[in-house]
Amino acid sequence: MSLEQFKNRNVGTQNYTTLDVGTPPETGTDKFLQIIRRAVKGELFVGLWVVMRTMLQALFKNDMHTVKYPLEKLPISPRYRAIHDMLILLESGNYRCIGCGLCEKICISNCISMDTRYDENQRKEVSEYTINFGRCIFCGYCAEVCPELAIVHGPRYENASEQRAGFSLFEDMLTPIDKLNLQQEYDGFGAISPNADENIKQTPLAY
Ligand code: SF4
Ligand code: SF4
Repeated sequence: MSLEQFKNRNVGTQNYTTLDVGTPPETGTDKFLQIIRRAVKGELFVGLWVVMRTMLQALFKNDMHTVKYPLEKLPISPRYRAIHDMLILLESGNYRCIGCGLCEKICISNCISMDTRYDENQRKEVSEYTINFGRCIFCGYCAEVCPELAIVHGPRYENASEQRAGFSLFEDMLTPIDKLNLQQEYDGFGAISPNADENIKQTPLAY
């Protein structure tokens, strides 16, 4: 279509072709037959045959075109940035984190909560470290700023939860499991409410 034809909006001068749509059915039998004619077409059986063929191939030839998630998972890119990992030193097995607090300060979602203390040798150690994944936007700033390569983004992406309380993976961070009840959480949107335990017992939607 040329530009001139496109600009010609004078539709009144164009020739239209009227399609022969036939006469609408009047009796109940005619209406039923029209429905059958329109609903049952040859393509329907072609589609059923394709499904049946694929199903038989999967059952008897083990020719699967899908993965059995969560038993099987597709490989993800090495650059995929998901749930954080706290790395350890290979030689000593200690966490690489030196408790500098840079990640906590740069976090634009304010979702990192950490605390440090001096141990018996007056060496600084991280006593608590938690990331609230209900608030984390996976921007990667914490991993970028870390001077010790202590915190990185790992490949775990299955972080769905019915409860916001489940978004803080305490057990995967530095905080010992028996100290969880001593942890501090920041107030604010997305934070775990102080009575989260009660709400969980009441109803999943009580937040
Ligand atoms: S990825 Fe971004 S939002 Fe998440 S903890 Fe790190 S700095 Fe905060
Ligand atoms: S920036 Fe790195 S070393 Fe510093 S507190 Fe965070 S994880 Fe630890």
